[in-house]
Amino acid sequence: MTTGFFWDERCFWHGGGNYAGMLPVGGLVQPMATGGLPENPETKRRLKNLIAVTGLEHDLVMTGARPADRGDLLRVHPASYLDDFKALSDGTGGELGRRTPFGPGGFEVAAQSAGLALGALRAVLRGEMGNAYALSRPPGHHALPDFPNGFCLLANIAIAIRAVQAEGLAKRVAVLDWDVHHGNGTEAIFYDDANVLTVSLHQDRNYPMDTGAFADRGAGAGQGYNLNIPLPPGTGHDGYLAALDRLALPAIQAFAPDVIIVACGYDAAANDPLGRMLATAETFRQMTQRTMALANDLCGGKLLLVHEGGYSETYVPFCGHAVLEALSGSRVTAPDPFAEIFAARQPDNRFAAFLDQWLQEMEVSL
Ligand code: ZN
Repeated sequence: MTTGFFWDERCFWHGGGNYAGMLPVGGLVQPMATGGLPENPETKRRLKNLIAVTGLEHDLVMTGARPADRGDLLRVHPASYLDDFKALSDGTGGELGRRTPFGPGGFEVAAQSAGLALGALRAVLRGEMGNAYALSRPPGHHALPDFPNGFCLLANIAIAIRAVQAEGLAKRVAVLDWDVHHGNGTEAIFYDDANVLTVSLHQDRNYPMDTGAFADRGAGAGQGYNLNIPLPPGTGHDGYLAALDRLALPAIQAFAPDVIIVACGYDAAANDPLGRMLATAETFRQMTQRTMALANDLCGGKLLLVHEGGYSETYVPFCGHAVLEALSGSRVTAPDPFAEIFAARQPDNRFAAFLDQWLQEMEVSL
């Protein structure tokens, strides 16, 4: 089995805006000494660097892909949005949505990011690779067709899905989103579509605060093909695996897709600044293993992970390394330097009983 790792240096060059964390600089908000928005290149670049240092990259097919072209983008985004984005990008850069600024050339970087997801999906569906990982940046799962938000400018995964459907490479696609934030963009794009199942595990009412409810199950022909699994703050290793096993994976099993795509964010990790969860590198490893086992059962192992959020510069590389070890079956390891401390912080049995009840309420309503 070969595992493709799709990346492009230009994706590390995206940036823009004068922010301090999530706050625009000004008034009493002091500018940061380095960086600005939490979504900066370091988390992703350091993952790429870690797999080089450990040697895991030698067990992967390190490759790239061409940017998504206008035809690819138009299957998801209206021409008016693409024109506005390109015009601003050709100038000084700017902001077209909510806290999703970009610099000069931001359009080309975003198209490259979508292109990595698309190239990786094509490679998996054509059988050129057993599975793949796309180090896409900027991320995509919040992007609405005409409204960028949550650091997402183009809907990377949706663009990839619409392209391979148009090319006849796949019809039924399941998207499993374990980023700590709700995959509102992916949900909206496929909300009335019975051929794309969207499943999102996320912290309840983190971001966006007004989407991601369990009751939102799709509409029209897509009724029943969207599954939101909101989880309470503090959900840790056992809780994530329970939600995956009891709700997310059975839904995908019942759907029987041609391929599974994971919107792979790492912001459910225990020290992420934008999440309040307690997942660890081991959690991400085991979620990957379980999803691979399901993909083996359902669709010849066809599985693509597309990088989304994750804002701990120190921890994202170790979480990503664990995912890539699982995906490739490599024996190259990067021992988790936080394993002991995060194990000690896992929720106790009282929380487990509360979460069991929480999950049960969703199970009985399905
Ligand atoms: Zn996120």
